[in-house]
Amino acid sequence: MTKSEALFQEAVKIIPGGVNSPVRAFRSIGATPKFIKSAKGAYLFDEDNNQYIDYIGSWGPMILGHGQKEVLDSVVDACKCGLSFGAATGIEVEMAKLVCELLPSIEMVRMVNSGTEAVMSAIRTARGFTRRSKIIKFTGCYHGHSDGLLVKAGSGVMTEGIPDSLGVPLGCTQDTLSANYNDLDSVKEHFHRCGEEIAAVIVEPVAANMGVVPPLQGFLEGLRDLCDTYGALLIFDEVITGFRLGIDGAQGYYGITPDLTTFGKIIGGGMPVGAYGGKREIMEIVAPLGGVYQAGTLSGNPIAMTAGITQLTILKEHPEYYLELNKKADKFYKKIQDILQKEGYPYKVNHVGSLGCLYFTETEVIDYESAKTSDTKAFANYCNYMMEQGIYLAPSQFEAMFLSLAHTDEILEKTLEMIEQYFCRK
Ligand SMILES: *Cc1c(COP(=O)(O)O)cnc(C)c1O
Repeated sequence: MTKSEALFQEAVKIIPGGVNSPVRAFRSIGATPKFIKSAKGAYLFDEDNNQYIDYIGSWGPMILGHGQKEVLDSVVDACKCGLSFGAATGIEVEMAKLVCELLPSIEMVRMVNSGTEAVMSAIRTARGFTRRSKIIKFTGCYHGHSDGLLVKAGSGVMTEGIPDSLGVPLGCTQDTLSANYNDLDSVKEHFHRCGEEIAAVIVEPVAANMGVVPPLQGFLEGLRDLCDTYGALLIFDEVITGFRLGIDGAQGYYGITPDLTTFGKIIGGGMPVGAYGGKREIMEIVAPLGGVYQAGTLSGNPIAMTAGITQLTILKEHPEYYLELNKKADKFYKKIQDILQKEGYPYKVNHVGSLGCLYFTETEVIDYESAKTSDTKAFANYCNYMMEQGIYLAPSQFEAMFLSLAHTDEILEKTLEMIEQYFCRK
């Protein structure tokens, strides 16, 4: 038995499913998890000393690669000053300044500890500000696991919120309306029916929790217009896209200004951090200034702020990094598509910058319905094969691939060889 298998056997006895976040259990590909001991650059190392090229990057944060020296050094230094004070610190001001400087749409920002918390708080803020209750979210978009956002992804366009999880009372989701990604008409219908009650539209500007689905031309603009017409707020959930597509996130990439933005993943540089922010007049409703309560004992933690600031500062000082990363990614994903074509597989590769997904379907993927046409068994087979070859992919058809600056041409070529090997083996 491998060490990973032994650890998993122990883990399942005392941790639900053996993991602290469900996707890590590898159930959707019928496998069990590798227990990771360390990571460096583009590589992960498991407890059995196997080495993997990592295409998860801690689900996004590791844009500079694992264990980047400046980030690590800054964190070690920060630790020497104490781990947490539960009091105001200069480094929080530094972080807030940095975020406001990098994103013109953000005039005030509040730090929290996860993406879930950021989104939950942004929704509360939008509701408090507009004095309205309903929100529109898109089927297949994930916004963390707070009650009101766990709405049955498969429920029809006009279906009012049915909870997607046990333990979520109907009352918590009755104000969550579902619309179809890339389908403005499905949004309009809600606004026509109850536009005066809609506080906000929340969207992943690039949907990256049903694989990777780019917004079609005009979709984000259309949302902006509808929100303006009906006095609702537009919330961009940039937990994945923020500081990944570019230093100014998807809003910079597509040139659309949301009212509120949520961050997570990258902003913490690998530490547990989230943030939400936006227009001053909206954010001023958050306690202790205004009537929307939101708090956090460890929010703005100095170690987490340090990791985030160090990584963001490097990225800010090197705009060429994003150009390099996105160019590398364009080439990489195109080559995957070329391999599929050459080997006679009609599968689709979607990508925006370094975020990408190989869908095992012939259907063009533009929303949840089309994503669901993917052959998840075929994906599982591919994913397990790649793992055996030392390529660590997200263990689900509906998760993104994340490239980092540590993925050299050589590493990417090696990966492409393995992909080619898989598709020409029969
Ligand atoms: C991961 C994710 C979240 C939740 O963030 P956590 O830190 O896991 O709570 C929210 N929104 C999007 C778009 C995400 O990808």
